[in-house]
Amino acid sequence: SREVHLVARPSGEPEPADFSLVETEVGDPGAGEVLVRNSWISVDPYMRGRMNDAKSYVPPYRLGEAMDGGAVGTVVASGSDDVPVGATVLHSAGWREYALLPAGAARVVDPGLAPVENYLNVLGMIGLTAYAGLVEVAPVKEGDVVFVSGAAGAVGSIAGQIARKLGASRVVGSAGGPEKRRRVVEQFGFDAAIDYREGDLEGQLAEAAPDGIDVYFDNVGGAHLRAAIAAMRDHGRIALCGAISQYNATEPVPGPDNLFLAVGKRLNLRGFIVGDHAHLAAEYARLAAGWIADGELRTEETVVDGIDNAVRAFLDMMRGANTGKMLVRLAD
Ligand code: NDP
Repeated sequence: SREVHLVARPSGEPEPADFSLVETEVGDPGAGEVLVRNSWISVDPYMRGRMNDAKSYVPPYRLGEAMDGGAVGTVVASGSDDVPVGATVLHSAGWREYALLPAGAARVVDPGLAPVENYLNVLGMIGLTAYAGLVEVAPVKEGDVVFVSGAAGAVGSIAGQIARKLGASRVVGSAGGPEKRRRVVEQFGFDAAIDYREGDLEGQLAEAAPDGIDVYFDNVGGAHLRAAIAAMRDHGRIALCGAISQYNATEPVPGPDNLFLAVGKRLNLRGFIVGDHAHLAAEYARLAAGWIADGELRTEETVVDGIDNAVRAFLDMMRGANTGKMLVRLAD
């Protein structure tokens, strides 16, 4: 079995040489363990933070060990009656072809309900992040104008569509480049989109949302957050989901220089981590399954094949090569 190790802590943008593909022997499962052959592994922006040796809400990756991350696979040997051979499981020992796990760390999922990779996207942590952000963190009310950055990405593309489900009257997205801008509207059903690479975020946002915005779902931070604060209406809400424009920063990044506007506008800016909203998972799964079945929630995956391309997939995702969720598919 091959697995990806972090071998050096990146400074700025990670490089292929910071990682190593390592061949290992995988043992047989003992009592209470399962051996899983991974079929899909996830590469996610939060992993960039784990490559630094810094205290955060998840511990740093250790040098010279396999990284972990979301994965879906099939149980090929089992020492547990609860998780039998042949079961499809969701777990967090990604970045490797085979995973030996305690059975309790593997969640059995129904492969008949949806393509299994959906559990790493709309039916998993990604979809729940969008839902929790707009239901609990920055609640969308009927008639709200909602702005979503990273709108062509995994979380953002779903957030825009959920905002509409929750009653938003207008949904505006931001993404990089004309092609993504087009897809945000045509494929994901936003009312308007801006291409942040064109610059003048404030001006573009004023044109796309002339009456201002009530809710901002922030995946990007920096200039996007500044522009959103400027465009917010009184009593607006901002869900601080991520700040990917800053993940490769080598110097401390200053906050938006217009934060004082939050006082006069009585804004509510709130950070969140999806894991704290697990109580919404069942409700969300039920809703999402219905929306998908009815064709009302469109999701997308960008697929890269092979464990030997997993690092490339991660690096490309950080630079915006993906539309929807970036996933790595492993051979059966
Ligand atoms: P995406 O699928 O959105 O992929 C990342 C995208 O970020 C790229 O496709 C790229 O799109 C965009 N991007 C990269 N650099 C920049 C930049 N400098 N400025 C603007 N956009 C940039 O990833 P996810 O949907 O998985 O994650 C989106 C955000 O949500 C991240 O910030 C992530 O950390 C956060 N997150 C937070 C969670 C939580 O619990 N709080 C849970 C899950 C995700 P483009 O081509 O448009 O630039």
